[in-house]
Amino acid sequence: MPQKYAAGNWKMNGLVSDLTEVLEIDKGVAGLSCKTIICLPATLIYAADGDPRQHVEIGGQCCHSAPSGAHTGDVSAEMLFEAGATYVIVGHSERRADHGETDSDVRAQVGAAWRAGLVAILCIGETLEQREAGETLSVLMGQLDGSLPEGVTPEALIVAYEPVWAIGTGKVATPEQVAEVHDALREKLGPEISLLYGGSVKAANAAELFALTNVDGALVGGASLKAADFVPIVKALSDS
Ligand code: PEP
Repeated sequence: MPQKYAAGNWKMNGLVSDLTEVLEIDKGVAGLSCKTIICLPATLIYAADGDPRQHVEIGGQCCHSAPSGAHTGDVSAEMLFEAGATYVIVGHSERRADHGETDSDVRAQVGAAWRAGLVAILCIGETLEQREAGETLSVLMGQLDGSLPEGVTPEALIVAYEPVWAIGTGKVATPEQVAEVHDALREKLGPEISLLYGGSVKAANAAELFALTNVDGALVGGASLKAADFVPIVKALSDS
């Protein structure tokens, strides 16, 4: 059975004073059967590492492919690991859109994550135009082919299906749309890789998504910032 994960993505939100929410989440998820990850802005990872957490694991949100060098403003996978991260998101559609990251960039970043000992949370997703043109599955399979290095293992890779049109928009993919994609991903990636859905997941829609056979959890943006919103999502996953 694939591992179940509830992963939060804080994006460019949060100051050190907001790390109290991570501690609240940590308390709220005690005893639950799934893993909980919060992917913090790079500036907060080291500070969070010093906090007395017992359940929540910490991730970064992107990494450069090189271990060090003349890349002003970038962060390497080794730096994230040293600061206390054990996971890193790669290929998020906001990175692809804002920073022009391509599948081959993402492939190099997955390799960098593995080199540094991080689990890569690889995001893939289609735009609304691609869905309306009937290209969803071919786009997603192309992203996987282009961004996965050799040597994939369930211990080192999590895949998050995040339709671009559902991220931060309040529009959630229907259970039928999610099932179609996740069943195809399962077929391609085998029985062990964890497959997360992401895109406007909230407590109100989480249980319906987690009931789907090949949904092993969620990558959650806005609703991961507050324990009061995120813990009920983690509970829904644990109960599924
Ligand atoms: C995300 O950032 O990966 C995401 C899914 O955001 P939201 O939950 O806010 O749609």
